[in-house]
Amino acid sequence: MSDNKIAFSEAWRPATRQLHAGVERTEYGETSEAVFLTSGFVYDNAEQAARTFRGEEEHYQYSRFGTPTVAALERRLADLEGAEACVATATGMGAVSSALLSHVKAGDRVVASRALFGSCHWIVANLLPRYGVETVFVDGCNPDEWAKALSQPTAAVLLESPSNPMLDILDIKAISDLAHKAGAIVVVDNVFASPVFQKPLQLGADVVVYSCTKHIDGQGRVLGGAVLGRKDWITETLQPFTRNTGNALSPFNAWVMLKGLETLSLRVNAMAANAAAVADYLASAPGIVSVRYPGRADHPQYELAKRQMSGSGSLIAFEVKGGQKGAFAFMDALKLIAISNNLGDARSLVTHPATTTHSKVSAEDRAVLGITDGAIRFSVGLEDSADLIDDLARGVAALQAI
Ligand SMILES: *Cc1c(COP(=O)(O)O)cnc(C)c1O
Repeated sequence: MSDNKIAFSEAWRPATRQLHAGVERTEYGETSEAVFLTSGFVYDNAEQAARTFRGEEEHYQYSRFGTPTVAALERRLADLEGAEACVATATGMGAVSSALLSHVKAGDRVVASRALFGSCHWIVANLLPRYGVETVFVDGCNPDEWAKALSQPTAAVLLESPSNPMLDILDIKAISDLAHKAGAIVVVDNVFASPVFQKPLQLGADVVVYSCTKHIDGQGRVLGGAVLGRKDWITETLQPFTRNTGNALSPFNAWVMLKGLETLSLRVNAMAANAAAVADYLASAPGIVSVRYPGRADHPQYELAKRQMSGSGSLIAFEVKGGQKGAFAFMDALKLIAISNNLGDARSLVTHPATTTHSKVSAEDRAVLGITDGAIRFSVGLEDSADLIDDLARGVAALQAI
């Protein structure tokens, strides 16, 4: 490594750390992080290889185990989250599945909030039971249901707050206290808040998972994920699982994520400011039945959101009149905002959860989750908010004909 080291300071504030944490310059003194596209590494001699495999020497071995580029991303994400350790994974679902599957065994019990990203729901509802793990879903906003479900020994709790797509806010601290009494680790999917607006580990959670595909890349380019937590759990429980099952992030994708992190707080704060403006517009527009945004006083868990998040995020859920017909007419009238099931992107995107991301959830479960046929999820991007409002006005006009 070069002498041209960045004099990292623990006193630096988050925006500075997003640019500089975790960097190790090579001898060439490059400004931007180097990307190491290599599947393996060589040793000076046979004894060094043997020492590396005995764990007596630190040396990269094989890219399924780690690369300098992925390691730089892991260090920077850990720094941003305030976590002792991080493992980057191939996708967000790679992060969620590895966090759970590495920790539980047959005969264990997992409790999860019902309002989860579709694939997370599938893992808890379908995959874990297949391996002999008992799983229980609760209404994440109901403290009595958590207390009842966690009144017996439990291995892990999985929750999402704000939840996808209806933006329920769950009390991470209260749930973590109950979970710890039941012997469970608490895994929080923090995608919707992003590391900028919510720090689950400070609220008592044990593990944080990300789809880095969302705000961390945030520019629609690559997939990736991350699991963060205590060093002993990451190295002894998670890492043997990810390394041996092949859940490795490509170094190129890690490099793209490192670029994304440089502007994360800038982007997420600008997206949240846009979201607040368009949420207010939608709330006053004819044909909009309801608007859910954690930053609005009419959100059912507004006080909790204020306590637990430092910003309100870039996602909005709203319901239009006319059910599915109304939602489709609204979305099809948009010219700037694209229809996509992705989120957290620099470009504004809308999706109709009932027929896409949550179409595999039964109609009864959708009703329980508040996902009506007229519900639209809106991931607010970086466009000028006036242009977004002009575009939404096209949707609102289309509703008047329904
Ligand atoms: C997208 C998403 C995931 C899955 O991430 P991938 O990178 O698509 O695998 C998990 N949880 C939430 C809340 C998400 O939005």
